[in-house]
Amino acid sequence: MDKIVSLCKRRGFVFQASEIYGGLNSCWDYGPLGVELKRNVKDAWWRAMVRDRDDVVGLDSAILQHPKVWEASGHVANFSDPLVDCTKCKKRFRADHIGVPYQNAAGVWTHPETAKPLEESEARAMLAAKRCPECGGELTPPRRFNLMFQTFLGPVVEDAARVYLRPETAQGIFTNFVNVLNSSRKKPPFGIAQIGKSFRNEITPGNFVFRTREFEQGEMEFFCPPADADKWFAYWREERFGWYGKHGVRPSRLRLRDHAKDELAHYSTACSDVEYRYPFGWGELEGIANRTDFDLKQHATFSKKDLSYFDEETKSRYVPYVIEPAAGIDRAAMTFLVDAYEETVVKDEERVVLHFHPKIAPITVAVFPLVKKEGMPEKAKEIEQELRRSFATAIEANQSIGKRYARQDEVGTPYCVTVDGQSMQDDTVTLRDRDTLAQDRVKVSDLSSAIASKIREWKRVDDGGGAA
Ligand SMILES: [Zn+2]
Repeated sequence: MDKIVSLCKRRGFVFQASEIYGGLNSCWDYGPLGVELKRNVKDAWWRAMVRDRDDVVGLDSAILQHPKVWEASGHVANFSDPLVDCTKCKKRFRADHIGVPYQNAAGVWTHPETAKPLEESEARAMLAAKRCPECGGELTPPRRFNLMFQTFLGPVVEDAARVYLRPETAQGIFTNFVNVLNSSRKKPPFGIAQIGKSFRNEITPGNFVFRTREFEQGEMEFFCPPADADKWFAYWREERFGWYGKHGVRPSRLRLRDHAKDELAHYSTACSDVEYRYPFGWGELEGIANRTDFDLKQHATFSKKDLSYFDEETKSRYVPYVIEPAAGIDRAAMTFLVDAYEETVVKDEERVVLHFHPKIAPITVAVFPLVKKEGMPEKAKEIEQELRRSFATAIEANQSIGKRYARQDEVGTPYCVTVDGQSMQDDTVTLRDRDTLAQDRVKVSDLSSAIASKIREWKRVDDGGGAA
């Protein structure tokens, strides 16, 4: 992981946010290559979820919503972690992470390991016996700490104007269900998809961009008749699992994990995680959940608006069930990068290659003039301008050709085009493939279609998981 973090900084994928001021804990900025990578991930997600389908439409709702939205969704009451502070070293811990009993959202004392209810006296005794794991100091009683970020709407700082930064994009979709229904002529089964930033004041962020307080989500809420919910859940579970493999992630490092009954949120009847085997172990990449009619019913109650659907065919009215695939965009982008990462030794030189899918790679084609003379730089520029119409391109003229290939391999550029002496005579160039290292002589006029066909035929070599 350290090598990947260092590559990300060295080549401009990800930087520590506010680095010149010493950084801001677990906040990250995407550099020139990182922003292209992330944009490609979002485009691929949007294409698969919206553009390539006729049963899903898009939405971009506001980060700030009416405070009632978060009361209805349960986030004000339940979206919290039990925390304890050390009175001596002032460190803060999540109670259940250090074996301290806590009161759950309903106020019931809960055992930190088994999550079973405890008598108050028993809990107090456990608490009194527990000392800070860092310094042995005395701990405060656990307090529930809401994970939503608060801010104030308008110039007067008072309770009435308190609003939250959204902790998930989904609620903006539920509150717009009827608007979309009435304006798009869609009817269940259909979905509403959204990509956007969400914010959670996580007490234990970490693992680079995998758990951060500000993050981007790709969420889709698929509304269907209650009787069809299981069928659609199975459909989206497979569909979303397949998406990662289709975009180059090795199947041997992917798995689907179904949640046990006691892991499910109270409103959910089924949930599966797409998991990836990271260098630090298996971790969640995306969750697919059957959220039932919970959210629409809650919003109907709190807003006093009818959020049901009248089916003209069956002449019946119902509140749709919702199947939700919720992906973390930052996590997905970094997973593509981690999975693509390979170290090899070629002629005693260590070589890093990112085997990105060509549609995910920040740069698709790099064009090199072999030398900076004899008209080659001008010819290379001309070719690059032409390729730019269809692909993300770069041009590089400095250093040896071998070093330039190595630099492009390191950022995952799948194709490199070299303009050499022969190009100046017969209008051909070499087209080099990052993964096979094959170099083909291609006519300049055929270059775009040759690259397009390579992209169509691209396949990830699965080495069985490799040394993660
Ligand atoms: Zn302490």
